[in-house]
Amino acid sequence: MDHFLYRDGELYAEDVPLREIAASVGAPFYCYSSATFTRHFKLLDEALEGMDHLVCYAMKANSNQAILKLLGDLGAGMDVVSGGEYRRAKAAGVPGDRIVFSGVGKTEAEMRLAIEGGIRQFNIESEPEMAVLSRVAASLGAEVPVTVRVNPDVDAKTHEKISTGRKGDKFGIPISRAREVYALAASLPGLKVIGIDVHIGSQMVDFEPYRLAYRKVAELTEVLRGDGHEISRLDLGGGMGIPYERTNADPPLPRDYGQIVREEVGHLGCEIEIEPGRLIAGNSGVLVSEVIYVKSGEDREFLILNAAMNDLIRPAMYGAHHDIVPVKEPAVGELPTKYDVVGPVCESGDTFAKGRAMARMQAGDLVAFRTAGAYGAVMASEYNSRPMIPEVLVHGDQFAVIRARPTFDEMINRDTIPEWL
Ligand SMILES: *Cc1c(COP(=O)(O)O)cnc(C)c1O
Repeated sequence: MDHFLYRDGELYAEDVPLREIAASVGAPFYCYSSATFTRHFKLLDEALEGMDHLVCYAMKANSNQAILKLLGDLGAGMDVVSGGEYRRAKAAGVPGDRIVFSGVGKTEAEMRLAIEGGIRQFNIESEPEMAVLSRVAASLGAEVPVTVRVNPDVDAKTHEKISTGRKGDKFGIPISRAREVYALAASLPGLKVIGIDVHIGSQMVDFEPYRLAYRKVAELTEVLRGDGHEISRLDLGGGMGIPYERTNADPPLPRDYGQIVREEVGHLGCEIEIEPGRLIAGNSGVLVSEVIYVKSGEDREFLILNAAMNDLIRPAMYGAHHDIVPVKEPAVGELPTKYDVVGPVCESGDTFAKGRAMARMQAGDLVAFRTAGAYGAVMASEYNSRPMIPEVLVHGDQFAVIRARPTFDEMINRDTIPEWL
């Protein structure tokens, strides 16, 4: 459930009409609902009730400072995958002991930054990385808590580009080699083995792969404990999927996920960490755009919007579906028509939807892309010299711009022309 609903014939974000925000900041823009962010975080937190746990928001899904502050104040930890994200989390006031560092390519500089600033744990993804972390930690006189990310060879049954837990994926170490890698970790200075990490993919709407992966993690916990390692924390990753299309089918629920966690690893007495990104942020945001032209092609009609693939790349990159709805509520019984919904960027890939049934639209009308709160603004670029679009956060009947649209001069002046030209 989210807080973007029709009321009095138009789409609202909580208690604010999207039309009003559009009049103030100009379309296109991202709009987030703080009540929806809060609700999703709490549902996940409650799903793990009774187990010692921390929900570490995977901030790559949406890392605006205001969003991090909102979630951090609710008690969330953060899962970071770069030094930039680490700095963002700290800047938003999240303490180091709630920040987990993931990612296959952590550099020495990033490790030093996190050790000096405070870190809950590093999730190590390879032996070379382990050696470097050991050296950096020892040189700082630190002993850092670590888990090793194991690849359980489980098919998450999701999109190719966001599956991460199969044999051929670049993430983690094969679970079959876990004992030797943990023995190495235990022998190196500066590292303190505390647990196991696993993350098998994203946008998983079938939760059974979790069960298979967590069963393997539970078995491994016993084996590693038998080898004398202290395994007191399990980082179970993120990846819970969300409905991008409104259908009658029930979406997978956080409490079903929590039940799987309880059943598979609840008996081990470990502290549980999860790293959800999309489930918290996805339905907490919409992208609002304006129709520039309705163009009749030879055999179809194009709805040409002022948002483009550079603002929301998921359709072009993953073939992802986003529901696109008019901000003015269509009249009951109004017959839909079909549009190819496109942006103005000079690429055929700049297509949001083909043959999409929608109410008839005109130039100047506003539309909202639903489920755009995760992997939306964070993946945006200025391709075609289109300045990054603003982000707005709604709270009840208030709204605030939480990232302003840069001016054209600001965008252009980031470049410098060398003297010799
Ligand atoms: C991307 C990622 C997540 C979050 O994935 P979602 O599908 O957004 O929940 C969690 N952990 C790691 C290591 C990731 O790379």
